Amino acid sequence: MGEDVEALKRRRPLIEYLRQHNWKGSPVGRFEFVGLCPLHEETQPSFYVNTRKDVFYCHGCGQGGDLIRFIQLSRHLSFRQSLACLDPQTSPAADSAAVLEQAAAFYQQQLDRYPEALRYLSKRGLQDPALIKALEIGYAPGGSLRRHLTAQGYSFDLLQQLGLLNVNGSDALFQRIVFPLRQDEHIVNLYGRSIGAALAHRFLPGTKGGLYAWEKVRHCPEVILVEGLFDYAVLLQAGVPNVTCSLGTHLNADQIRQLCDGERTVYLTFDVDANQSGQLAAEQLACRLRARGIVARRVLLPQGHDPNSFFVEGADARQFQSLVEASLP
Ligand SMILES: [Zn+2]
Repeated sequence: MGEDVEALKRRRPLIEYLRQHNWKGSPVGRFEFVGLCPLHEETQPSFYVNTRKDVFYCHGCGQGGDLIRFIQLSRHLSFRQSLACLDPQTSPAADSAAVLEQAAAFYQQQLDRYPEALRYLSKRGLQDPALIKALEIGYAPGGSLRRHLTAQGYSFDLLQQLGLLNVNGSDALFQRIVFPLRQDEHIVNLYGRSIGAALAHRFLPGTKGGLYAWEKVRHCPEVILVEGLFDYAVLLQAGVPNVTCSLGTHLNADQIRQLCDGERTVYLTFDVDANQSGQLAAEQLACRLRARGIVARRVLLPQGHDPNSFFVEGADARQFQSLVEASLP
């Protein structure tokens, strides 16, 4: 039994459990966090969590102990009942949004330290630090995410489950520019764009969510839809505000529903590549949208361009606007 308890506790670090129950702690040292005590009413934080020892202590009410003790006190359960709460089969799904939030913040902090990442952004036309910050763009240099998140009390198992780490514990988004994808304020996924040719771009497992930054454009009568986040970023930078991104030419059901949730005109601005795949996808999507009563038009960029390369090669918002005006049904 004793060994089982230890194994159970290793799977569920105390701080992870607290965070899932909306406890907010600020770091006060490498392995210590302080916040308001969940066990008694207070206005000044006196509840300390030590992530290395995996224990808490409250200077206000004098309670302290491990996770099981905390569950006993907070839920008025016996030791045995508290253990049952922690059974991995019955425990609630981990609060993945909180972990993704931490991972995204960590990657954001790394960006400025890696000139190769900034060079890549600049090559893709993104130089404005305010925009880079607004889009929460980060960089995964590789190797350090695991240490950072486990020091905060997140378990290796959880990080692997979320796809942040590979089986060998290294960053899944290694050497990629990272965009957090939000839905209703919560991060639902991270998109990683390789800065070299060797690695493919990728998402973490799970949904890519709805349209990118949809809440900013959902009330616009005219919306420009692009397929890539670098397309989105340069359009925004050029001063085109009513743009959203589907992260690929294949839209999921949520994204279709969003585009069709009211009367609007959608300007499909997909890549114009030699094999015509972008335009073919745009034509098919236009048909689907029209069937649902949406006005869909295709914006034709010059041959071989996507919106990103169009702007990187010097186009401006006015030139883009004239393409929008010349769009095809
Ligand atoms: Zn207390």
